[in-house]
Amino acid sequence: MDGPSGSGKSSTSRGVATRLGLRYLDTGAQFRAITWWMLRHGVDLDDPAAIAAHAGDPVLESGTDPQAPMITVDGTDVAGPIREQEVTSVVSAVSAVPEVRARLLREQREIIGAGGIVVEGRDIGTVVVPDAPVKVFLTAEPDARAARRTAELAGATVEATQIDLIRRDKADSGRAAAPLTMAEDAHHIDTTPFTLDEVIDQVVTLVEKAQG
Ligand code: C5P
Repeated sequence: MDGPSGSGKSSTSRGVATRLGLRYLDTGAQFRAITWWMLRHGVDLDDPAAIAAHAGDPVLESGTDPQAPMITVDGTDVAGPIREQEVTSVVSAVSAVPEVRARLLREQREIIGAGGIVVEGRDIGTVVVPDAPVKVFLTAEPDARAARRTAELAGATVEATQIDLIRRDKADSGRAAAPLTMAEDAHHIDTTPFTLDEVIDQVVTLVEKAQG
Protein backbone atom coordinates (compact mmCIF):
# COMPACT_ATOMS: atom_id res chain seq x y z
CA MET A 1 0.00 0.00 0.00
CA ASP A 2 1.77 3.13 -1.21
CA GLY A 3 0.79 6.76 -1.52
CA PRO A 4 1.47 10.24 -0.19
CA SER A 5 0.80 11.32 3.40
CA GLY A 6 -2.83 11.77 4.32
CA SER A 7 -4.11 9.58 1.48
CA GLY A 8 -5.62 7.16 4.00
CA LYS A 9 -2.85 4.52 3.85
CA SER A 10 -2.56 3.80 7.56
CA SER A 11 -6.25 3.48 8.38
CA THR A 12 -6.89 1.48 5.21
CA SER A 13 -3.91 -0.84 5.72
CA ARG A 14 -4.81 -1.55 9.32
CA GLY A 15 -8.47 -2.07 8.43
CA VAL A 16 -7.65 -4.47 5.60
CA ALA A 17 -5.18 -6.43 7.73
CA THR A 18 -7.71 -6.70 10.57
CA ARG A 19 -10.53 -7.82 8.26
CA LEU A 20 -8.37 -10.46 6.55
CA GLY A 21 -6.44 -11.63 9.63
CA LEU A 22 -3.12 -10.48 8.16
CA ARG A 23 -0.10 -8.86 9.82
CA TYR A 24 0.64 -5.15 9.27
CA LEU A 25 3.88 -3.19 8.85
CA ASP A 26 4.10 0.61 8.91
CA THR A 27 7.39 1.44 7.17
CA GLY A 28 6.83 5.19 7.66
CA ALA A 29 7.01 4.58 11.42
CA GLN A 30 10.44 2.97 10.90
CA PHE A 31 11.79 6.02 9.05
CA ARG A 32 10.28 8.22 11.75
CA ALA A 33 11.86 6.12 14.51
CA ILE A 34 15.34 6.44 12.97
CA THR A 35 14.75 10.19 12.61
CA TRP A 36 13.71 10.43 16.29
CA TRP A 37 16.94 8.64 17.29
CA MET A 38 19.07 10.99 15.13
CA LEU A 39 17.43 14.05 16.74
CA ARG A 40 18.01 12.61 20.20
CA HIS A 41 21.69 11.96 19.43
CA GLY A 42 22.35 15.39 17.91
CA VAL A 43 23.11 14.12 14.40
CA ASP A 44 23.27 17.02 11.90
CA LEU A 45 20.30 16.33 9.63
CA ASP A 46 21.55 18.84 7.06
CA ASP A 47 24.51 16.53 6.49
CA PRO A 48 23.63 13.32 4.57
CA ALA A 49 27.08 11.88 5.36
CA ALA A 50 26.44 12.23 9.10
CA ILE A 51 23.04 10.56 8.71
CA ALA A 52 24.64 7.76 6.68
CA ALA A 53 27.36 7.25 9.29
CA HIS A 54 24.72 6.60 11.97
CA ALA A 55 22.18 4.78 9.80
CA GLY A 56 22.90 1.44 11.44
CA ASP A 57 23.09 2.60 15.06
CA PRO A 58 19.47 2.65 16.27
CA VAL A 59 18.05 -0.77 17.12
CA LEU A 60 14.42 -0.97 15.93
CA GLU A 61 11.67 -3.34 16.82
CA SER A 62 8.48 -3.11 14.75
CA GLY A 63 5.28 -4.83 15.85
CA THR A 64 2.96 -6.31 13.22
CA ASP A 65 -0.41 -6.40 15.01
CA PRO A 66 -2.76 -4.13 13.01
CA GLN A 67 -4.84 -3.43 16.12
CA ALA A 68 -1.87 -2.46 18.30
CA PRO A 69 0.95 -1.01 16.18
CA MET A 70 4.15 -0.93 18.21
CA ILE A 71 7.62 0.47 17.55
CA THR A 72 10.63 0.73 19.83
CA VAL A 73 14.10 2.26 19.38
CA ASP A 74 16.86 0.89 21.62
CA GLY A 75 14.05 -0.58 23.72
CA THR A 76 12.12 2.71 24.17
CA ASP A 77 8.49 2.88 22.99
CA VAL A 78 8.43 5.77 20.47
CA ALA A 79 4.95 5.29 18.97
CA GLY A 80 3.87 8.69 20.35
CA PRO A 81 6.98 10.87 19.87
CA ILE A 82 7.52 9.83 16.22
CA ARG A 83 4.23 11.56 15.29
CA GLU A 84 5.36 14.93 16.70
CA GLN A 85 6.03 17.84 14.36
CA GLU A 86 9.70 17.80 15.36
CA VAL A 87 10.09 14.42 13.62
CA THR A 88 7.59 15.02 10.79
CA SER A 89 9.35 18.17 9.64
CA VAL A 90 12.73 16.45 9.10
CA VAL A 91 11.91 12.80 8.32
CA SER A 92 12.18 13.31 4.54
CA ALA A 93 15.84 14.37 4.89
CA VAL A 94 16.60 11.11 6.71
CA SER A 95 14.56 8.88 4.40
CA ALA A 96 16.39 10.27 1.33
CA VAL A 97 19.72 8.83 2.52
CA PRO A 98 20.51 5.53 0.70
CA GLU A 99 22.22 3.96 3.74
CA VAL A 100 19.06 4.45 5.81
CA ARG A 101 16.92 2.93 3.08
CA ALA A 102 19.28 -0.03 2.56
CA ARG A 103 19.27 -0.82 6.25
CA LEU A 104 15.48 -0.67 6.51
CA LEU A 105 14.96 -2.59 3.27
CA ARG A 106 16.76 -5.59 4.79
CA GLU A 107 14.68 -5.41 7.97
CA GLN A 108 11.43 -4.88 6.08
CA ARG A 109 12.02 -7.93 3.88
CA GLU A 110 12.90 -9.99 6.93
CA ILE A 111 9.64 -9.01 8.67
CA ILE A 112 7.58 -9.53 5.50
CA GLY A 113 9.04 -13.03 5.07
CA ALA A 114 6.73 -15.27 3.08
CA GLY A 115 3.90 -12.72 3.14
CA GLY A 116 0.48 -12.65 4.80
CA ILE A 117 1.00 -8.99 5.59
CA VAL A 118 -0.21 -5.53 4.59
CA VAL A 119 2.77 -3.19 4.22
CA GLU A 120 2.36 0.55 3.90
CA GLY A 121 4.89 3.11 2.70
CA ARG A 122 6.13 4.95 -0.37
CA ASP A 123 8.20 2.34 -2.23
CA ILE A 124 6.61 -0.97 -1.24
CA GLY A 125 5.25 -1.90 -4.69
CA THR A 126 8.27 -0.56 -6.56
CA VAL A 127 11.26 -1.57 -4.41
CA VAL A 128 10.48 -3.49 -1.22
CA VAL A 129 8.10 -6.15 -2.62
CA PRO A 130 8.03 -5.76 -6.42
CA ASP A 131 6.30 -9.16 -6.70
CA ALA A 132 3.54 -8.42 -4.16
CA PRO A 133 0.31 -10.24 -5.14
CA VAL A 134 -1.75 -7.06 -4.69
CA LYS A 135 -0.44 -3.51 -5.01
CA VAL A 136 -2.56 -0.51 -4.14
CA PHE A 137 -1.67 3.14 -4.62
CA LEU A 138 -3.87 5.50 -2.64
CA THR A 139 -4.26 9.20 -3.34
CA ALA A 140 -6.69 11.89 -2.17
CA GLU A 141 -7.36 15.51 -3.04
CA PRO A 142 -5.07 17.92 -1.14
CA ASP A 143 -7.92 19.39 0.96
CA ALA A 144 -9.08 15.97 2.09
CA ARG A 145 -5.54 14.92 2.96
CA ALA A 146 -4.84 18.04 5.00
CA ALA A 147 -8.14 17.73 6.84
CA ARG A 148 -7.47 14.07 7.73
CA ARG A 149 -3.92 14.72 8.91
CA THR A 150 -4.98 17.75 10.95
CA ALA A 151 -7.60 15.65 12.73
CA GLU A 152 -4.85 13.21 13.76
CA LEU A 153 -2.50 15.88 15.13
CA ALA A 154 -3.06 17.80 18.35
CA GLY A 155 -2.95 21.59 17.90
CA ALA A 156 -2.31 21.59 14.13
CA THR A 157 -4.08 23.92 11.69
CA VAL A 158 -5.27 22.80 8.24
CA GLU A 159 -3.09 25.47 6.55
CA ALA A 160 0.11 24.44 8.34
CA THR A 161 -0.63 20.76 7.71
CA GLN A 162 -1.21 21.42 4.01
CA ILE A 163 2.10 23.26 3.63
CA ASP A 164 3.87 20.41 5.41
CA LEU A 165 2.19 17.74 3.24
CA ILE A 166 3.12 19.52 0.02
CA ARG A 167 6.72 19.97 1.13
CA ARG A 168 7.02 16.33 2.18
CA ASP A 169 5.43 15.00 -1.04
CA LYS A 170 7.85 17.05 -3.09
CA ALA A 171 10.84 15.73 -1.14
CA ASP A 172 9.58 12.11 -1.17
CA SER A 173 8.73 12.17 -4.90
CA GLY A 174 11.83 14.05 -6.00
CA ARG A 175 14.55 12.10 -4.18
CA ALA A 176 16.97 9.85 -6.10
CA ALA A 177 16.64 6.79 -3.83
CA ALA A 178 13.32 4.91 -4.10
CA PRO A 179 11.09 7.93 -4.76
CA LEU A 180 7.34 7.84 -4.21
CA THR A 181 5.94 6.49 -7.49
CA MET A 182 3.08 4.21 -8.43
CA ALA A 183 4.11 0.73 -9.57
CA GLU A 184 2.92 -0.01 -13.11
CA ASP A 185 0.82 -2.93 -11.90
CA ALA A 186 -0.70 -1.12 -8.90
CA HIS A 187 -4.42 -0.45 -8.49
CA HIS A 188 -4.96 3.27 -8.06
CA ILE A 189 -7.72 4.34 -5.66
CA ASP A 190 -8.53 8.03 -5.18
CA THR A 191 -10.05 7.89 -1.68
CA THR A 192 -11.49 11.45 -1.71
CA PRO A 193 -15.16 10.54 -2.30
CA PHE A 194 -15.18 7.38 -0.15
CA THR A 195 -15.53 6.59 3.53
CA LEU A 196 -12.80 4.53 5.18
CA ASP A 197 -15.02 1.43 5.19
CA GLU A 198 -15.70 1.82 1.48
CA VAL A 199 -11.98 1.99 0.69
CA ILE A 200 -11.30 -1.04 2.91
CA ASP A 201 -14.07 -2.92 1.04
CA GLN A 202 -12.47 -2.08 -2.31
CA VAL A 203 -9.05 -3.31 -1.21
CA VAL A 204 -10.45 -6.48 0.39
CA THR A 205 -12.22 -7.22 -2.91
CA LEU A 206 -8.92 -6.82 -4.78
CA VAL A 207 -7.20 -9.24 -2.39
CA GLU A 208 -10.00 -11.80 -2.65
CA LYS A 209 -9.89 -11.59 -6.46
CA ALA A 210 -6.12 -12.06 -6.44
CA GLN A 211 -6.51 -15.16 -4.28
CA GLY A 212 -8.87 -16.56 -6.92
O1 C5P B 1 3.88 7.46 6.14
P1 C5P B 1 4.55 8.48 7.01
O2 C5P B 1 4.04 9.87 6.79
O3 C5P B 1 4.57 8.10 8.45
O4 C5P B 1 6.08 8.45 6.53
C1 C5P B 1 7.02 9.33 7.04
C2 C5P B 1 8.12 9.58 6.02
O5 C5P B 1 8.91 8.41 5.87
C3 C5P B 1 7.69 9.94 4.61
O6 C5P B 1 7.44 11.34 4.46
C4 C5P B 1 8.88 9.49 3.78
O7 C5P B 1 9.89 10.48 3.77
C5 C5P B 1 9.40 8.30 4.55
N1 C5P B 1 9.01 7.01 3.99
C6 C5P B 1 9.74 6.53 2.92
N2 C5P B 1 9.50 5.28 2.42
C7 C5P B 1 8.53 4.52 2.96
C8 C5P B 1 7.74 5.00 4.03
C9 C5P B 1 8.00 6.27 4.51
O8 C5P B 1 10.64 7.21 2.42
N3 C5P B 1 8.33 3.28 2.48
